[in-house]
Amino acid sequence: MGQPLRQGPRHPRWLRWGGWPTLAFCLTTLYGQLISVYDYAQAALLILGGSTLAAVGVGLLFARGKRVWCRYLCPVSGVFALLARLAPVHFQVDEPRWKANAGPRLPPPNCAPLLDIRRMRGASDCHACGRCSGQRDAVRLIARSSNQEILQATAHPLSPWDTRLLLFGIIGLAMGAFQWTVSPWFVSLKQQLANWLVGRDLLWPLQDNAPWWLLTHYPQLNDSFSWLDGFSIILYLGASALLLGGALLLLVRLAARIARAPELYRALSLSLTPLGGAGLFLGLSATTVKLLRYEGLLLGWVQSARAGLLLAAIGWSLLLGWKLLGRQGLARFAVAAPARACYWPTGWWGMAGGCNSGAGFEEVGRHSIIRPDARAAPARASPLATRPCPVLNALN
Ligand code: SF4
Repeated sequence: MGQPLRQGPRHPRWLRWGGWPTLAFCLTTLYGQLISVYDYAQAALLILGGSTLAAVGVGLLFARGKRVWCRYLCPVSGVFALLARLAPVHFQVDEPRWKANAGPRLPPPNCAPLLDIRRMRGASDCHACGRCSGQRDAVRLIARSSNQEILQATAHPLSPWDTRLLLFGIIGLAMGAFQWTVSPWFVSLKQQLANWLVGRDLLWPLQDNAPWWLLTHYPQLNDSFSWLDGFSIILYLGASALLLGGALLLLVRLAARIARAPELYRALSLSLTPLGGAGLFLGLSATTVKLLRYEGLLLGWVQSARAGLLLAAIGWSLLLGWKLLGRQGLARFAVAAPARACYWPTGWWGMAGGCNSGAGFEEVGRHSIIRPDARAAPARASPLATRPCPVLNALN
């Protein structure tokens, strides 16, 4: 991200590798699912406390007053950098005025995320601390269109890691993470693997004796994962990331090629940012909805609101794609075929994940196929487990 924006003290080359936020996001998401981070306080403490300790350690070793962890390593910094492109305000830098302003010059501001403020072109890397506001009379906070930074993305070199994180991580992996507990495909996969193991008399993977910090293990709540459960989750989430992310990458590349602008595919990928952001919000808020329902709140309007939000995000992404392709003079043709073919499957999957994830469907995937007692008495079965999703009904 933002290769020309870095300044300040040099840090080890390995620390500045652009893939850390993507890798950290994927590993944290996967690990969180294995230990049920959204369901148990000690699992949340392990992930949040562990990353806090890691941030403190990196700060002590390398920081020198800078946010090195936030800039290079934080698992969510890449997500925030992508979503910040949609921000309706940002610190705009007038580079000619910055250079022309001879003096008296103030000392350069202490930009904690190590940005080269003079060359800053967008909001993605900026933490909006305001320290540089007014510097040389060239930096000011302005309102802007939320589409602006993505529509102008073709004017600046884009990092391939932005595309990878969005398509494979935020859409592919995260959608799988929000969806596996209600997926009949996951149940079928686990069943097939179990049959295969039993047929070969391999029974140890069916034991649920892993510690809680490796796999969910709360036998007192009738909620424990076997080794097979853990393997199936890794397999399902990996397949979701590779299949969905790979299909989307192929489709945006196809759309860019038809538009006779192969390099446009990275900007086209970024046009899916609203959809990715909405998918994350819907998936994460599903836990809140689920807990509120356990407390007796019916929230009958929530599913419609969630579907409306997702449809709005799909529309926003389509609009961005339309405008980007329109600049190539081929919008009508290109959007009518491959670009539309790109967005709609993503939207459908997002709807399935966003609507199903814990907010209305029974979490069949969490129930062990080895222990029938767990199916008979699920530990946290929602009182509204059979409430249908209106969007899925409409699609069906
Ligand atoms: S607002 Fe803060 S984080 Fe952003 S460029 Fe200025 S000093 Fe850096």
